[in-house]
Amino acid sequence: MASYLDARKNRGLWLLRIEDIDPPREVSGASESILHCLESFGFEWDGEVLYQSTRLAIYQDILDQLIKADLVYPCVCSRKNISQSLPRTGPLGPIYPNTCKDKVIDLSMQHAFRLRTEAKTVSYEDKLQGRQTTNLANEIGDFVIKRADGLFSYQLAVVIDDEFQGVNNVVRGCDLLENTFAQLYLQKLLAYQPPNYLHIPILVNQNQEKLSKQTGAHALPTDHPLPQLVSAWKLLGQSTDSINKLTTPSEFWEWAIPIWEPKSIPAQRAIRFSD
Ligand SMILES: [Zn+2]
Repeated sequence: MASYLDARKNRGLWLLRIEDIDPPREVSGASESILHCLESFGFEWDGEVLYQSTRLAIYQDILDQLIKADLVYPCVCSRKNISQSLPRTGPLGPIYPNTCKDKVIDLSMQHAFRLRTEAKTVSYEDKLQGRQTTNLANEIGDFVIKRADGLFSYQLAVVIDDEFQGVNNVVRGCDLLENTFAQLYLQKLLAYQPPNYLHIPILVNQNQEKLSKQTGAHALPTDHPLPQLVSAWKLLGQSTDSINKLTTPSEFWEWAIPIWEPKSIPAQRAIRFSD
């Protein structure tokens, strides 16, 4: 909703991408039901939906370029191996202890590919959360861009597709605030122009967990969209003048887009939600 409002207010395009590159975790019919849900809430996307499952050959091409440039290395560590070495934990999980870095790896073994990170301080300016700083090698570590089971990582796919679709503004949840460091680094290596980022607070339950299917959140009811839109609008800290006069989603969008004010979004990482 925040990204839609932001794109429309700035007369930009709002692009839709389905990140269907993890077949084992996919529920059949999930992407159709997402599109149906968006339609019933009155979202109108521009152009064709981009399905990441159609992009695997491109991801492989770019991975091959990175391998050729010696920016990635093969890794045969299992999750168990890594946790047994008692690694430090950073915002994206265990920091890889560089076990396979600069080692000769038997490539007949199942292997992932990791990106070499630099021990340098890097920053970016988030349009809502302000300046974000990290040291990639020390706080995030050499991260996987293709898994041992052959699946491409979210980080690699999102960077390649943002470039492909000409994305210049990204509005998304704060659960991806630190992922952005990894993405900015990949953009730099691939000589892509980085987009602007605005990370909105995520809704969390009383255990501080992001509302999602995994944490038992209810599905959005699609039969009464207006109250849901109004409730999300309020959580985004927006003006509620004459909100009670609205009767349909299309009236809502017509009213909301011109008065959308990203500076009014609470500049925090999470908002506690109870229904
Ligand atoms: Zn390894």
